[in-house]
Amino acid sequence: MSTATLSIDLDAIAENWRALDRLTDAACQTAAVVKADAYGLGVGRVARALARAGARRFFVAVAEEGAAVREALGPGPQICVFSGHMAGDTEMIADLDLTPMLNSLDQLTRHLEALPGHAFGIQLDTGMNRLGMEAEEWSAVAEIVLPLNPVLLMSHLACADEPGHPMNARQLANFHALTDGTGVPRSLSATGGILLGPQYHFDLTRPGIGLYGGLPFAAAQPVVRLTLPVVQIRTLEPGETVGYGCSWTAEHPATIATVSGGYADGILRALSGRATLWAEDIACPIAGRVSMDLITVDVTHLPEPPRELDLICADQGIDALAEQAGTIAYEILTSLGPRYARRYGGASV
Ligand SMILES: *Cc1c(COP(=O)(O)O)cnc(C)c1O
Repeated sequence: MSTATLSIDLDAIAENWRALDRLTDAACQTAAVVKADAYGLGVGRVARALARAGARRFFVAVAEEGAAVREALGPGPQICVFSGHMAGDTEMIADLDLTPMLNSLDQLTRHLEALPGHAFGIQLDTGMNRLGMEAEEWSAVAEIVLPLNPVLLMSHLACADEPGHPMNARQLANFHALTDGTGVPRSLSATGGILLGPQYHFDLTRPGIGLYGGLPFAAAQPVVRLTLPVVQIRTLEPGETVGYGCSWTAEHPATIATVSGGYADGILRALSGRATLWAEDIACPIAGRVSMDLITVDVTHLPEPPRELDLICADQGIDALAEQAGTIAYEILTSLGPRYARRYGGASV
């Protein structure tokens, strides 16, 4: 088999959820963000593992994503939609029992007209200027909305991964100004906000990346391992080149392993000439460019030709790999392509 193997440790995801849950007090509920197919790891298996760990509320980006979560979890757990109630979503919201986080007066009107009595939350903008009602919009409708018992008032922090950033305190103050005294459950924090401390926790937190082993949750257990099989090994004379553009030249006699996996699998082309693969704990540099389906790796220094090499492993986690590509772990995970054999591990499988 030449497809690479993406191993996903469901126990580690569950343990990361419990660890983030322990960082807030007992009255604060810890939800789970499973948008974008659970950050690329497979929402069905991941959502079930999180539900077994104790998660009762899940967040997706768009209503369409709610279908797979509802199918995995069955009736009961609340599935909230960040993008709110868009035109065309009404049937999905009703049939799948989704809870839209309404972002504008348009959405509020649409929701109340199409599905009166159906649960909803309100998303407020506290400075990020991405999603949510502005302060003026909210003050215009709060009196109408609050008696309808919204399930949540939420906002999102722009700079929570930088604890010293003044934007955090500014958004916190804005959130208080918009929501104090409403009596409605409130949520401000994703992974980064949980780590900022108790004043950011309110009634519910919404971790995503921390569940999947990424920064800023430095204490997270690693979740993902990516192992690429070696398709072919060859030896090069000094002066021979490797791959597209002849960008790597052998300076000494060299051994090159061609492994299965490329930018079509989310192994970003920006890793060309930079990234390292691993034979157990021995680093092996990429030789030349990442191509669509294959990567060439310098394995000259290995005692034996390898049968497989790891790109994501204990020696090189998702954030270390992201740094080599000039990106963040979120993008590494959500780029992982459909071609991998996904293997789910952990005792709870
Ligand atoms: C993606 C997202 C989250 C989760 O963020 P992480 O940084 O992955 O923990 C929470 N809330 C909103 C509104 C989001 O868009």
